[in-house]
Amino acid sequence: MLPVIALVGRPNVGKSTLFNRLTRTRDALVADFPGLTRDRKYGHASYEGYEFIVVDTGGIDGSEEGIETEMAQQSLLAIEEADIVLFLVDARAGLTSADIGIAQHLRKQQKKSFVVANKTDGIDADSAAAEFYQLALGDVHHIAAAHGRGVTQLLEHTLRPV
Ligand code: GDP
Ligand code: MG
Repeated sequence: MLPVIALVGRPNVGKSTLFNRLTRTRDALVADFPGLTRDRKYGHASYEGYEFIVVDTGGIDGSEEGIETEMAQQSLLAIEEADIVLFLVDARAGLTSADIGIAQHLRKQQKKSFVVANKTDGIDADSAAAEFYQLALGDVHHIAAAHGRGVTQLLEHTLRPV
């Protein structure tokens, strides 16, 4: 049984970009406007010797009342069925209240969750990522999904114990 990795985070942080890089397909829609990927999308990934199933989600903004929206439902289901959750945040946008809402949800789950600061290309990644330690989910990993930077290191760190 391959490990299942769910990509969660608010819309527009780069989940589908990372999904596409991991699966090397254009299957997950990547768009400049948030919320396009409404359902969970599954892909088989074989990346630098690591094999796993990756799940893309439409995004969750942490403020859904009673978990009403379809997108939020899909994200919560993806978290439930995953072995590992990669919680993407936007290093350029900085910490948002939506990120804090998602982190609160993840901290209640008995799931391996990793904070992944995306879009660190062309900025000082260390200082941009520092504030995400406030999410209290441990180490903050830096990547630039659009360019592949940090992705192998991320997989090494998150998949090794599985
Ligand atoms: P999603 O809503 O979380 O699935 O986000 P998308 O993957 O659709 O990406 C949203 C926007 O962020 C798109 O315009 C991407 O090109 C852009 N993006 C994704 N990854 C990166 C990155 O590593 N660096 C930069 N600068 N932009 C990125
Ligand atoms: Mg998407």
